[in-house]
Amino acid sequence: MEGPTIEKSKVYDFLFIGLGASNSLILLSLLKKKCLSNKKVAIIEADDKDTNDKTYCFWAAPSDSIVLELAPLISHSYTKIEVNQSTSQNIEDQPYHYIKSIDLYNHTQAALKIDNATIFRDTVNHISSEGDFYTVSSNSTNYLASYIFDSRPPSLSDLGQKEIYLHQSFYGLHIKCENEVFNEDEFEMMNFKVEQDAFTQFIYILPFSKKEALVELTRFGEKKIDVAYAKEILNKIISKDYGNYEVLADEDGCIPMTTFRNSANSSEGILHTGARANLIKPSTGYAFKRMHAFANKTSEEILKGNYKQFNKLSLETKKRFRLYDRLLLIILLYWPGEGKKIFTQLYKKQGIHTIFSFLDEKTTLLQELKIFASLPILPFLKAVYIFFKKYNYLRYIIAFLAVVIYWVFDYFTLLSPLIISLILIPGFLYVGIPHGALDHILIARKEKTLLQFCIKYFLIMGIYFIVWQFFPMLSLLFFILFSAFHFGESELEEEGLNLSSLLLYAKAFIFGLCIILFIIFTHHTESKEIISLFNVNFPLSLRIFDQSIYAVWIASISFLYILIQILLSKKYAHFGLLFLLLLGIKTPLILAFGLYFIFQHSLNAWGHLQHGLKMDGFTLYKKALPFTLSAIFFLCAMLFYNSVAVLNLNEFIATLFIFLSCISLPHFLLMHLFYKVK
Ligand SMILES: Cc1cc2nc3c(=O)[nH]c(=O)nc-3n(C[C@H](O)[C@H](O)[C@H](O)COP(=O)(O)OP(=O)(O)OC[C@H]3O[C@@H](n4cnc5c(N)ncnc54)[C@H](O)[C@@H]3O)c2cc1C
Repeated sequence: MEGPTIEKSKVYDFLFIGLGASNSLILLSLLKKKCLSNKKVAIIEADDKDTNDKTYCFWAAPSDSIVLELAPLISHSYTKIEVNQSTSQNIEDQPYHYIKSIDLYNHTQAALKIDNATIFRDTVNHISSEGDFYTVSSNSTNYLASYIFDSRPPSLSDLGQKEIYLHQSFYGLHIKCENEVFNEDEFEMMNFKVEQDAFTQFIYILPFSKKEALVELTRFGEKKIDVAYAKEILNKIISKDYGNYEVLADEDGCIPMTTFRNSANSSEGILHTGARANLIKPSTGYAFKRMHAFANKTSEEILKGNYKQFNKLSLETKKRFRLYDRLLLIILLYWPGEGKKIFTQLYKKQGIHTIFSFLDEKTTLLQELKIFASLPILPFLKAVYIFFKKYNYLRYIIAFLAVVIYWVFDYFTLLSPLIISLILIPGFLYVGIPHGALDHILIARKEKTLLQFCIKYFLIMGIYFIVWQFFPMLSLLFFILFSAFHFGESELEEEGLNLSSLLLYAKAFIFGLCIILFIIFTHHTESKEIISLFNVNFPLSLRIFDQSIYAVWIASISFLYILIQILLSKKYAHFGLLFLLLLGIKTPLILAFGLYFIFQHSLNAWGHLQHGLKMDGFTLYKKALPFTLSAIFFLCAMLFYNSVAVLNLNEFIATLFIFLSCISLPHFLLMHLFYKVK
């Protein structure tokens, strides 16, 4: 390998960051398709790549392209498998293959020499966009490139509360026994004869001859395996099962098992590869076959000269497998002791071929249902509960139950207003008001004193309240417009989108407007009655409230717009929003609005605040308390000012909306700044 050099003037057609598994496979695939012959290629690798730092194992049929293409690198293939001390199973049609990483590195480097690709031993720090090219900066120099294949590992620190991150850590001994104790055609996986010690731990044995094998202790857990601990266990097991032996070598390693999905690079010319492209299956740690498929897909597109959305190249995957992986990781994190039971049951009840296709994500839904039916149900039910809780989906179940209770009371009794109050009052106190009562922390660095902040804040509220008295029509429109933006912005934030362009501002506004219009026009008679209490006189051209046919159209178009946006963004978590909107149709306006405001908007914003301010819920409540109380006092004052509202529901709703508009105006401005800075 060459040492660091200054290469400022060169522009490489393809620049590979890292020469590990993923980029080696891509390079080999490109070489095979002769895509590199007239390209200027550079590879920047931080490591010497001259040791066998890992081994890659995978199952594949003899006719699969991975076996045909990598045949010279496969040092061993097993045609039989033993799982957890059960009887041996034949896997001749899909043997388990073994490749030494050093063979892959050497093979790739030798192949690259023919095409004059340059390999730099250097560490990449940063990539920036430079007109048509990218500048890749290392400690010593800059490299220019048109297309980049980036295999640096993704950052897994600070993943947030939703994500799960475990380690698949292992320590193994390459041993040579005195006696012929192994069957070199048969390997053993997931042997649970070891103590679990509050983890999921098992032994894995890969024989290389009748006397030689790699015997490994693997752990799925939050804490990595300790070498001394693993050595002691392995020594005991090996001596007991195989007698005298000598250690030829040892190896340790760790594969991330995480639900976190790294986003594609936002620059069209930078492709993430390997672990950075989420190609490691979270529940197993296997990645090699996926990386090979990804390499072939990438090289096919390059061969076609198709570089459009190069950064978004990915393998087709079925989303439901992500959910299965997630549930398993939840179980392994919260109830690690269940791992042994689940895997034991899985391998006992299912044939190895079904399991291989399940792990390859090639089973049908029916097969998957059969697999899950054969597993202990309780840990999965508990995992589903945690999943709903982590993702804040429990709220939709609670909202649904609350509405069902409302419907029952509304049908059989006259107590439905009481039920509405029992849903809305706790909801407003729990998050509705507190999520807006933290504005003083959002602005803390900009204002000189809290007093100044409060004066400005209450002044804005007061002025808006006065404007409502004289210009209700203007105030109402203003409320709808800024609420639309505020709601839309918080929905986009939930999607992970920051408003970085005018288009996104417009998108946020239209999204929020559709939410509001849907709620208003699915309750257009009620809305009309309440708006009439504001003394609003709509111009003739705006008298759409009077005609229900327009209301149906507007509500339908709004709903369709939201649905299309969700489908386009592929953020299916937003289906919860649609669910709440639909749930609200057959409830009074105030409940329909409350369902959205409490169960969607405020809970989302509360989550954004917790994450953005890095504070737990209790701290936020404490900080919000003075302003929550002030808001309640402000509402009481307004009810005192308009005492009719205490006895008349519509008057009450009208007063509540004015109250919300007044406290929302400064809140909307501050939340916008918070989202922007975040
Ligand atoms: C010990 C171990 C065993 C595994 N066994 C299997 C298995 O049996 N079967 C299977 O399917 N999967 C296995 N995996 C999972 C997966 O196949 C590997 O992690 C695989 O190496 C991932 O490929 P990659 O290209 O993303 O990363 P790597 O192979 O690690 O390659 C990344 C390369 O980038 C270099 N690099 C990193 N940062 C920089 C930088 N800033 N500048 C320049 N270069 C940089 C690194 O030195 C490295 O060479 C295993 C993983 C580990 C850790």
